[in-house]
Amino acid sequence: MPHEEADLAPVDSVAPAASGRTQIADHPLALAPVSAPASSVDGFVREFLKNLNFTQGVPLSASSPNDRYLALAHTVRDYLMARWLEDQRGQREAQSKGVAYLSAEYLLGRQLDNNLLASRLTDVATEALAKCGIDIDDLRQQEVEPGLGNGGLGRLAACFIDSLATMSVPSIGYGIRYEYGIFRQTFVDGQQVEQPDAWLSLGSPWEFPHPEAAQTISFAGHTETYDDDGVERSRWIPAWNVQAVPYNYMVPGYHNGRVNTLRLWRSVATNAFDLRIFNSGDYEEAVRAQIFAENISKVLYPEDSTPQGKELRLQQQYFFVAASIRDFLTNVLAEDFDLEKLPERIIFQLNDTHPVIAVPEFMRVLVDEKKMDWDAAWAITQQCFAYTCHTLLPEALEVWSVDLLGRLLPRHLEIIYRINDEFLLAVRERFGDDEMRIRNMSIVSDFPERSVRMAYLATVAGAKVNGVAELHSQLLRDKVLPDFNEFYPGKFTNVTNGVTPRRFIRLANPQLADLITEALGAGWTVDLERLRGLESFAEDPEFRARFAEVKAANKRTLNTVLLARDGLSVPDGHMLDVMVKRLHEYKRQMLKVLHIVTSYEGIISGRVDVKDVTPRTFIFGAKAAPGYVMAKRIIHLINAVGSVVNADPRVEGRLNVVFPPNYNVTLAERVIPAADLSEQISLAGKEASGTGNMKFALNGALTIGTDDGANVEIRELVGDDNFFLFGMTEPEVEALWAEGYRPSEFYQKDEDLRRAIDLIASGAFSGGDRTTFEPVVSNLLYDDRFMVLADYASYIAEQGKVDAAYGDQDAWTRSAILNVARSGYFSSDRSMRDYIQRIWHTPPAY
Ligand SMILES: *Cc1c(COP(=O)(O)O)cnc(C)c1O
Repeated sequence: MPHEEADLAPVDSVAPAASGRTQIADHPLALAPVSAPASSVDGFVREFLKNLNFTQGVPLSASSPNDRYLALAHTVRDYLMARWLEDQRGQREAQSKGVAYLSAEYLLGRQLDNNLLASRLTDVATEALAKCGIDIDDLRQQEVEPGLGNGGLGRLAACFIDSLATMSVPSIGYGIRYEYGIFRQTFVDGQQVEQPDAWLSLGSPWEFPHPEAAQTISFAGHTETYDDDGVERSRWIPAWNVQAVPYNYMVPGYHNGRVNTLRLWRSVATNAFDLRIFNSGDYEEAVRAQIFAENISKVLYPEDSTPQGKELRLQQQYFFVAASIRDFLTNVLAEDFDLEKLPERIIFQLNDTHPVIAVPEFMRVLVDEKKMDWDAAWAITQQCFAYTCHTLLPEALEVWSVDLLGRLLPRHLEIIYRINDEFLLAVRERFGDDEMRIRNMSIVSDFPERSVRMAYLATVAGAKVNGVAELHSQLLRDKVLPDFNEFYPGKFTNVTNGVTPRRFIRLANPQLADLITEALGAGWTVDLERLRGLESFAEDPEFRARFAEVKAANKRTLNTVLLARDGLSVPDGHMLDVMVKRLHEYKRQMLKVLHIVTSYEGIISGRVDVKDVTPRTFIFGAKAAPGYVMAKRIIHLINAVGSVVNADPRVEGRLNVVFPPNYNVTLAERVIPAADLSEQISLAGKEASGTGNMKFALNGALTIGTDDGANVEIRELVGDDNFFLFGMTEPEVEALWAEGYRPSEFYQKDEDLRRAIDLIASGAFSGGDRTTFEPVVSNLLYDDRFMVLADYASYIAEQGKVDAAYGDQDAWTRSAILNVARSGYFSSDRSMRDYIQRIWHTPPAY
């Protein structure tokens, strides 16, 4: 496929970033053109071999698959480079308002395929490698995905930066370059075992380190006041510091020739710090200091939704936001920039509370370093930040103990206190001395220990606060932060999450993508509402047959992948019933287990004729936080149920449980396109949005789901006839809590439920041992925080309707097509447009 000139036009100059290099900037060579290599097949072959020889240092004949993968990655990089350099300069020079997305997590997935697709090089590269006798698919498998996130929140950040690049929005993503990303999950006797994710060990061709541009980030120490020409000012005298080294990653837009930047920070020891100790002759201590400093970006915390108030985590958070703010102020803004105009140049979007310590840091820079008046600085800060809340679970709302904050960031604690004092004063002015309200709204809480509520700080500081689905935003306003909503009318808004159709349709489901293109023409990939055009095709029997064939082919591919990956198989002719997401009680994998056990119990008790059972393969994918004991027990139970059910001849292979370990983006890209049924079964009012739900709908799976998160919007769009709804609504959940929820009553009343739970309790899935899953059973019977038993009957009944519907394959396919046709709203491009309109007010392009 010929390459369009616009993509690869030569860059006429390479303008340097930092000051102090002006002499080089003026040098004629600095103005020499940088151009991408020719994008012909032969040109690509040459570049590939050159990289193999000169970067990897091997001839083709002696190269390892990893050498070939790295050479290919470098070649793709080379093609993108000219645009990247130009866009970095363009963004610096445009001086328009930009977005800095601050996120502690980016769950990027593999880069090679995405970058080939974005730069239109897939066909050229495939052919070129074939000419070298290499199957490009083998090289794709070499890439270890950068798992720098836990789940939905980190994947959202990755989708957003893809959309921002594709929409040419001036923006940069900031985060942490964890040396170890989310752990690699294995199963030993059905139980989760965590292995370190050494994703960098074979080299990382997509990153560009810039140690020379490191920032010094300080910690601990004390503060003091001093007289600055008659003005009393504060300063922070830190005790130790580390270097933050930027690592840049290309974020290519899709077919638009843009390449944005993701800048991830790595911590290393400062030279000065080392030298001081070295000079004192204590070599061991110097090495220890080095290790201590590098620790900060060593590992991603594997807790999803339940943050631990660990000191290292606060160090990580401050480390990356402090470096990012400094990076923006020193490298993007001109030296003489009028700081009063900051709101015209930047908006920092806070992805959850993890980066909220940026707020007092920004204030500290403005007030202590730039000597700005407090009120002016605060007015600017309140325009330069916006906050996205991602949760409704009280235990997920991050707090930091005052004790820890005071020790690690003493000046920031003072600033937070002052922000809080002034805020509470304003609350008193508005509402009078309503002490209850004051206590409830205070950023600093006194119980159970004195601590800072980061969500409150973000809400007070942010120009806007958004939830991530309509229902979530409404519950945020009405239930989580009602006093704040009353105090700040207009501050709260919604932006429903989205996913990138590039990765989750084009890359994950190329056959569906081709079918759509054939039906609708190109263009839908960047304008997903065009999928609406498929509605009429849903009525066309021939199109339905082709759509069904794509689904069947995706199932065969999944079978091949799982066989190679884990020795698992997906039988032909089964409905694929898929639940893939982090393991969390609120997501209710337990409810899915009860459904499987109920179906199984029906067969082995003889009450259900096995011939009447719809053949289903239940696919799970889920990591549990290593310290989350109940979640790990549920994983064990799923595997235990699987080994018994799969091996029982009475089932005649009609029920099949498949639980490949280590669910990640790469696996998601294989599983989701093959799915028939998408399980989105959280307790209503607990899942903020979900994005997995969107990926499934866009790939033609029907959803069985509760009225929760973005499920609500999915159902509204695809229509009740094409969605399996069950369970209590959020107000019904509230009402049941209010009247007193006793799960054992549901157990007593419902015979099927009793049989299923009794079968688990009997030891049927644990070799007769009744103790193994006793904690799971008693948790259900006597606690059941997420009301699994209350929704059980409704879930089982709805699964009956799923079976009936699946019986009419043609009607099912029609519904599946309508799901695709009506889910264009869930493109992250639309999310970005909403952010721009409702929150950022940035120009759409640069
Ligand atoms: C999309 C995605 C998630 C989020 O899934 P939910 O069902 O919304 O929780 C988690 N992990 C991976 C790998 C994903 O791709």
